[in-house]
Amino acid sequence: MVMPLPFLTRRPTVPAKDGASWPHVIILGGGFAGAHAVGALRDARVRVTLIDRNVYKTFQPLLYQVATAGLNPGDVTMFLRGLSLKVPNMRYRQGEVEGVDPERKVVRLDEGQKGIHELSYDYLIVANGATTTYFGTPGAEEHAMPMYTRSQALSIRDRIFSELERSSREAGISHDKLHVCIVGGGPTGVEIAGALADFRMQELDILYPEMDPGTLQVTVLQRGDEVLKEFSTKYRQYAADELRDRGVQLRLGHGVKEVGYDHVVLDDGSILESDITIWAAGVAIPESVAAWGFPQDKRGRLAVDDYLQVKGFPGSTPPETSPARTSRSPSWPSPRSSPVRRRPAPSPPRSPASRARSSSTPTSAPWPPSVVTPRSRRSPY
Ligand SMILES: Cc1cc2nc3c(=O)[nH]c(=O)nc-3n(C[C@H](O)[C@H](O)[C@H](O)COP(=O)(O)OP(=O)(O)OC[C@H]3O[C@@H](n4cnc5c(N)ncnc54)[C@H](O)[C@@H]3O)c2cc1C
Repeated sequence: MVMPLPFLTRRPTVPAKDGASWPHVIILGGGFAGAHAVGALRDARVRVTLIDRNVYKTFQPLLYQVATAGLNPGDVTMFLRGLSLKVPNMRYRQGEVEGVDPERKVVRLDEGQKGIHELSYDYLIVANGATTTYFGTPGAEEHAMPMYTRSQALSIRDRIFSELERSSREAGISHDKLHVCIVGGGPTGVEIAGALADFRMQELDILYPEMDPGTLQVTVLQRGDEVLKEFSTKYRQYAADELRDRGVQLRLGHGVKEVGYDHVVLDDGSILESDITIWAAGVAIPESVAAWGFPQDKRGRLAVDDYLQVKGFPGSTPPETSPARTSRSPSWPSPRSSPVRRRPAPSPPRSPASRARSSSTPTSAPWPPSVVTPRSRRSPY
């Protein structure tokens, strides 16, 4: 019997026409909502294009750990393209959505050096999240550090440890304090304050033996009279007690009127030293959304009906009859026939010869790959 040589046989791919005429769903934003929407469309007869400015999804609830060096960036991010391993009817495109024209059903995507492209859609899922708001506070945008993205959390971390180095060098000279002011006593502010306080109690004297742990001063500034105002009284009190026990100063009842390079001004006129001001005070809809032509409520949120459809733009084309409208029509595999969805049983270790054969596979090989190797599943982030 003649065995076919594996590298000479065609890969079991799905013909390009399969799925090419399916309705095109664009998902704008690969955060919690966008990534879940991708998963939910896995068995639908639609082509999905996921767009995000980053190649990764961020688990924002743990950003405070990145900012305080408890976790590394890769621990809180997930490779977005990796979603296609489970959802083969998805394509990912990196870029900045700079506009949406809901009348023409196109998204304008800025792909950097590749220029700006228009992508047509039949259905659009708007999942671009929220962003930091400074409530018009003078100096806040220039001098305070927000913590909404992975890179912002890393900037805070770099700044904290650079300032600690500076303080450790100056420890014997001036006994200067390192003041970290956290604006906002909500969950994010409380979490960062708690993490910094724990760091001071447990690690600072080991890592910086030349420095008095009391050099690091952590203050939470909160306009209201209590921290964690969304929580019950019991938890608000508990959080405040725990922070105070750990040496965190709580300045309650006053808002921040202005932020300077090395200080903050409260609304009663008092001025506090602040080497690092962390802004954990609020979120808002990105201003750019206002230009997208969708109805918004007073707070800028998109006005939606009971089915979360944007009012006036219900996405009415039924999936069965929708024509293909994308500007590009790459081959779209059928989720039902894709080999990726049914994971093969673990195979025995491969010989060096077979490894060499698979590495000679041309990079233009049809997508998706017929075998998902452990290596290809690992996120580079
Ligand atoms: C520090 C912090 C701590 C939090 N802690 C908690 C918690 O403990 N528990 C909890 O339930 N929630 C928490 N949240 C809130 C939670 O993270 C958000 O509610 C959630 O991330 C919202 O998901 P989303 O998909 O709507 O938006 P996001 O997760 O923000 O995702 C939006 C995506 O869209 C992309 N994007 C935006 N605009 C564009 C554009 N123009 N072009 C291309 N891409 C774009 C972004 O890159 C991003 O990937 C926290 C948030 C923060 C910031």
